[in-house]
Amino acid sequence: MLNFSSVTKNYEENTVVTQALQPFNLQVSSGDFIALVGPSGSGKTTFLNIAGLLESPSSGEYTFLDKDVKTLSDKQKSRLRSSDIGFVFQGFHLLPELNVYDNVEIPLRYSRVPAKQRRASVMSLLEQVGLCDRINCKPNQLSGGQQQRVAIARALVGKPSLILADEPTGNLDSQNAADIMAILSSLNQCGTTILMVTHSLKLAQQAKRAIEIRDGVLKERCIEHYAARWG
Ligand code: ADP
Ligand code: ADP
Repeated sequence: MLNFSSVTKNYEENTVVTQALQPFNLQVSSGDFIALVGPSGSGKTTFLNIAGLLESPSSGEYTFLDKDVKTLSDKQKSRLRSSDIGFVFQGFHLLPELNVYDNVEIPLRYSRVPAKQRRASVMSLLEQVGLCDRINCKPNQLSGGQQQRVAIARALVGKPSLILADEPTGNLDSQNAADIMAILSSLNQCGTTILMVTHSLKLAQQAKRAIEIRDGVLKERCIEHYAARWG
């Protein structure tokens, strides 16, 4: 599904170059569930931004669904982002003035999906994340866990094949984090590919693969390696 070959990322600011990602190779197959772990500043967000076509590699080859990313225009990348990728962030990023229903419907408003079909998709997703009884609430009337479930429903409404999640449970207590992980796992079991940044080794163990990033160096780790540390 995704293929990274000798990909690097440097940032240059006032002649100071930061090597955010050292050359790495990685293949992500359809149906993978990958946890990205590593300390703050190690390059996790940079990796996710490249994977999600938000930033371009400094060198190397990245193919996204068989397309060489270098050859894509900004417009083509943005189209791929809305058709194939669902983004979930630590801070939820919901629109405060809109209710739950409208927040989830937003991505469809920009597509040509007819109103009736939009309603069916939104309601089916809200049911999947257990929020059908909250459709008229504004985000500030919801708990953090509920807000993240709205954000997940919104990320899924365009039926993406790939979910990119940056610390999706970072602001949540352990019960809410476990609920969000259960939703992600069940999506993965239904075939959605997931790349998830997490600080929690305990949550990382629930993925199928773990990639550790340290100082911009990516290393695949055995999931059992993490399981062992947690006993
Ligand atoms: P993480 O997500 O693991 O905390 P990041 O990917 O955000 O790490 O950052 C990796 C490194 O790249 C850090 O040294 C960070 O300061 C640097 N960096 C990230 N984004 C930028 C940017 N837009 N401009 C300059 N440096 C950046
Ligand atoms: P987190 O550690 O929660 O992933 P970060 O604080 O590393 O978040 O990064 C948040 C955003 O800021 C990212 O999009 C990253 O690319 C950008 N960023 C990080 N470091 C820098 C930097 N030194 N200069 C500019 N942008 C940066």
